[in-house]
Amino acid sequence: MLAKKDPIYVTQPFMPPLEEFNEYLKDIWDSRWLTNNGKFHIQLEQELCDYLGVKHLSLFSNGTLALIVALNTLRITGEVITTPFSFVATTHALHWNSIKPVFVDIEPDYFNLDVSKIEAAITPKTTAIMPVHVYGNPCYTEKIDTIAKTYGLRVIYDACHAFGVTQNENSVLNSGDLSVLSFHATKVFNTFEGGAIICHDEGTKKRIDFLKNFGFADEVTVVSPGINAKMNEIQAAFGLLQLKYLDENRIKRKIIADLYREQLKNTPGISMLYDIPGVKHSYNYFPIVVTKDYKISRDKLYETFKEYNIFSRRYFYPLISEFSTYSALSSSNPDNLPVATSIAKQVLCLPIYPSLDLQDVKDICEIINS
Ligand SMILES: *Cc1c(COP(=O)(O)O)cnc(C)c1O
Repeated sequence: MLAKKDPIYVTQPFMPPLEEFNEYLKDIWDSRWLTNNGKFHIQLEQELCDYLGVKHLSLFSNGTLALIVALNTLRITGEVITTPFSFVATTHALHWNSIKPVFVDIEPDYFNLDVSKIEAAITPKTTAIMPVHVYGNPCYTEKIDTIAKTYGLRVIYDACHAFGVTQNENSVLNSGDLSVLSFHATKVFNTFEGGAIICHDEGTKKRIDFLKNFGFADEVTVVSPGINAKMNEIQAAFGLLQLKYLDENRIKRKIIADLYREQLKNTPGISMLYDIPGVKHSYNYFPIVVTKDYKISRDKLYETFKEYNIFSRRYFYPLISEFSTYSALSSSNPDNLPVATSIAKQVLCLPIYPSLDLQDVKDICEIINS
């Protein structure tokens, strides 16, 4: 097989027709309302609540600031139990709130926080649990909820991979106290950069909205040392346009996931994550696990793809606990994180995005199989 003429990245953002975006731009130009809760901002918050099946949602300029503000909203302090198998921003958000992360290992089936290991990590300083729905596969939310109630802890989900994910027709974003989304260009729904916090009552939404706008409650009242994390009107307009194509794009992603599964189902040494019954998946990622029974290592396969101009990604390697900022923490010891340590060395995310050609998917599988 020849190397691809154009590079194939692990993901590509969906770009709606430019003419359609021009309509929104004209509106913004005419109104001269560029940010601070403009009409597209208001409309997008409403449409996302309806689309996702959640009560309250606040838009943000990016997912990381949404995570930071979510922790501040609930005044989380001390220690927070979290996973090392995620994008580094999950733990950075704790650091920016002067909170000590306590890493707990993941389970081997879907790589989410191992709920059977949470209780042993709770100390008198623990105030919350921050799990991640990795690759959009829902955490064991009921068990986490029970632990949180028993120990009086808050739960904030990093749901950046779980846009549109439902379990038995209920949005996973309705679990816990707060959930955070990212609308970065690499995510299934994007606003170039962007994010959101989902909460369950009006009072909390009000506090979140104060915090993302410097803490202003009105022209003369500042209730908290808030930050500037507002989404602007151009981003919100892009989101509204993007929303129209989401269902269609999800089907395209599902077709690609199904094709990978079909083509790789008999490949020795390659294992995959399958859909969970009752769960509507987002297909933001297509991870495979390159085990020791495969003929070459994960890193060799990753390098081989590059020779064909195909760029897979090792999400999540290194583990967050391995970065120098966090590696000295006692919970970062690899002996405390055996499953995460092992999975991080074997996982590889293959390209998946709506405009990815099915022939390219077959070629990627052929490289793996040949
Ligand atoms: C993308 C992502 C973030 C960060 O979101 P940004 O919008 O890029 O700031 C945080 N956590 C996880 C798990 C992510 O995938």
